Amino acid sequence: MGGDALRGEGGARGRGSRLRGNDDAKLPPMATLADLQRWLDNPLPAEAAERALLSGSMGESPSKYSRSPAMWNAAFRDVGLDAAHAPFDVRPEHLAGFVEAARALPGFMGSNVTVPHKLAIMPLLDEIDPIAREIGAVNTFLLAEDGRLIGFNTDADGLIASMLRPLPGKAEPFLPSLDGRDVLLLGAGGAGRAAAFALAREIGGGSLLLTNRSPERAADLAAQAAAATGASVSAVGQEEVLAAALRMDVIVNASTVGQSGVRRLGGGEATSLEAFSSLAPASPAVVADDGDEAAFRREWFAQSADAVAENNARSAETIASCKPEAAFVDAVYSPDETVLLRQARLSGRKTLNGKGMLVMQAAFSFVHRMTRRHLQAAGLDPDALYDRVVAVMAEAF
Ligand code: NAP
Repeated sequence: MGGDALRGEGGARGRGSRLRGNDDAKLPPMATLADLQRWLDNPLPAEAAERALLSGSMGESPSKYSRSPAMWNAAFRDVGLDAAHAPFDVRPEHLAGFVEAARALPGFMGSNVTVPHKLAIMPLLDEIDPIAREIGAVNTFLLAEDGRLIGFNTDADGLIASMLRPLPGKAEPFLPSLDGRDVLLLGAGGAGRAAAFALAREIGGGSLLLTNRSPERAADLAAQAAAATGASVSAVGQEEVLAAALRMDVIVNASTVGQSGVRRLGGGEATSLEAFSSLAPASPAVVADDGDEAAFRREWFAQSADAVAENNARSAETIASCKPEAAFVDAVYSPDETVLLRQARLSGRKTLNGKGMLVMQAAFSFVHRMTRRHLQAAGLDPDALYDRVVAVMAEAF
């Protein structure tokens, strides 16, 4: 079925039931998949036209790396919802056009939002949930029944659930509780902000210490999280953090340090963070990138080897002196094991990567946010589906 066939009541199953008509002055005219496709750099998959409902993951190039379509489509199949989840590759100058086409597309449910649109999308939405407003970033938006677009942030739920609820295949949670724990958080970007407010709400009489490459962001975030939660939250510089780590019960990385892949910086330059531990300062070389990845890596490695060696040595020395029972958590899920987690595991500490966080935040969004009203309309009980959706998404990851 082509995109134009989706217009009006003759559209894909279920799309004709939407309360949206060209004669309704308050709502924009109906859009088609062709209207949505105009704003995308990747072709929509065939399932987008074959299913009654459409959701997706929107970022600069999720079609190249995102695990979300596989996870969400597996969950849709499992619960029997006639829905598809597509990657939406949207460049910044196409964001507003994409949002308006999505708003007017019959059967559109909502979308995950990733780099670089988590902030830029906020003024384009009709409502921002208080948690997302506090964090200052949206990672999910949904199309409500009345046509409003509502932004949320489910990263906090995902992080805390991955630490405190048993993951699929595990009898016990990673940690029984965060109450009274001293926690070190590395990073104050979008994920770091979500983690800071969420951790501050879980630590009770414990403490939360933040650090970030740009120290003013950590200081601002510490002040905001302390004011919002009443918890003991403070910030230190990247150099002081190595000594502070020794008294910590839990160390959480929410920075991009340790993440795989080439980080293209524009202007024909790129760098890479995979070889570094997020616990110690990381200063990778920035080198020319003409799209030949092997050539980039040879030059990058030659120029960064000393910095990697110093970073790894300082991190290893610190981890070797941390509490034996200290637990290490990384929001990064690619690679499976970052340098931080490898050093922690090799020195006998408990470790948890970001896969659980990604799965738990997606399951939370599936059950409580983006898909909730569609599950209910199909006669399903969303709350009863949570554990099953977690298991299915984890398997499909
Ligand atoms: P972001 O908003 O771009 O923030 C990047 C963070 O990394 C900032 O704190 C930044 O510090 C820091 N950073 C970048 N380069 C650095 C360097 N060379 N040395 C030290 N710090 C550096 O990104 P994000 O959305 O927060 O994502 C952070 C990571 O979390 C990513 O790897 C992402 O994949 C992961 N994540 C995972 C999940 C999940 O579900 N598992 C969810 C969300 C995010 P500055 O402030 O100084 O720039």
